[in-house]
Amino acid sequence: MKYFSTRDKKLDYDFKSIFVRGLSPDGGLFVPKNIVKFSNENLHHLSKLNYFDLATEIIYFFCKENFSKEKVNKIVKKSYSNFFSENVVSIKKFEEITLLELYHGPTLAFKDIAMQVIGNLYSEIEIVKNKVINIVVATSGDTGSAAISALNNKKNINVFVLHPHNKISKNQRKIMTTIGSDNIFNLAIEGNFDECQKIVKEMFADDKFRERINMSGVNSINWARIICQVVYYFYCYFKLSKKTNFSVPTGNFGDIYAGYIAKQMGLPMGKLIVATNKNDILSRVINSGSYKPNEVKSTLTPSMDIQIASNFERLLFDISNQNDERVNVLMKDLKDKGSFDLNSSERKTILESFTAVAVDDTETIRVIRDFFNNFGFVLDPHTATAVRASYNVKNDLPTVVLGTAHPYKFADTIKMAINKDVVAPEQIASLPDKKEKFDIVDRDLKKVKNYILEKTK
Ligand SMILES: *Cc1c(COP(=O)(O)O)cnc(C)c1O
Repeated sequence: MKYFSTRDKKLDYDFKSIFVRGLSPDGGLFVPKNIVKFSNENLHHLSKLNYFDLATEIIYFFCKENFSKEKVNKIVKKSYSNFFSENVVSIKKFEEITLLELYHGPTLAFKDIAMQVIGNLYSEIEIVKNKVINIVVATSGDTGSAAISALNNKKNINVFVLHPHNKISKNQRKIMTTIGSDNIFNLAIEGNFDECQKIVKEMFADDKFRERINMSGVNSINWARIICQVVYYFYCYFKLSKKTNFSVPTGNFGDIYAGYIAKQMGLPMGKLIVATNKNDILSRVINSGSYKPNEVKSTLTPSMDIQIASNFERLLFDISNQNDERVNVLMKDLKDKGSFDLNSSERKTILESFTAVAVDDTETIRVIRDFFNNFGFVLDPHTATAVRASYNVKNDLPTVVLGTAHPYKFADTIKMAINKDVVAPEQIASLPDKKEKFDIVDRDLKKVKNYILEKTK
């Protein structure tokens, strides 16, 4: 499989190069040149596999030139050895809703599923064997801890995590700031997530700086994250052996885009339901065609407090029939005018696969409360938005809701909703006693660069 960029189809990279680079030099996102659909025979074969072997087949499909299947299998098994669910994920039924729990990894969010694999992929790459690389990552709360857990104590790797100061939950911050050792640096940026992400993107676009520190990235703009997330859509379909909708709590459009890729690969599915919170840029663009970022508002679902959904660019590229010029025009509009507009045929194409629903905090709380009263089960607030969004779709297909985080991460919100304390899961039972480690840094590109240079001297 070869890769090019959403903004430049002349590029030609293999998996390893795009994995290490993360973001394309033209500011676009890396995408595979063409995805071949699995045949029915292939699908039948895949349906018999356990999670580890299925993950091996799917990941291998995207990186054949660089890794043997045996190697991928070894990486997968190692990556999921510290999960608290036998098959990595777990499926539960609550009347018409099926919940796909993705949060049994070491940091209690679905991001562990891709990040653990990424951590082990780095160790397999020669450049990392010979020189130190610096991974810089922005987080809206869960990516940071997942990256730290995956890369902690890895040889020749430093990790710099930028999170928005005071804009993530206390337990999210604690998980992130207590598990790291000497190669991990937490920066609490005086700003919101979009501003953290912007700083990271600007550093990627600065060739001199990027090369000086051997910079690499693990945000969901990294294609390797997407392919690891494709796996559980297939797994769930095979387990249920029926066509369903998938409702996904969405921020940066990475997780749901993985579902779209699964569909491209031949997985039968109904609608992909984009659940957003009040930061509803995605539900606005899908329902009206206008992509216009607003101010980021803080909500009870902080991991979705995002107004610039980076992975949406990949969808734009797909629905315009891989038209890099069109993507460049839209991205230029976004930069110059602060927004862009899709034409009606582009919108129509999106609506064939997606619907989108924005859910506010009041409704989120109500869903957590009702779900607990009906089923005795506690949803995390992000997952609750997707449960709520699923009620809007009536197409006779059952819906799978992606459970993206364990409710313990948002214990204060749960307390508010149902007046109960969430018991800390095994993974992090000792959390409250550990010492936190982070530095508060201004929202300023230069200051962040200097911080990194200082620490890597
Ligand atoms: C990151 C995250 C999301 C959003 O996922 P995207 O891939 O950014 O759309 C939703 N819920 C939780 C709990 C998250 O950590």
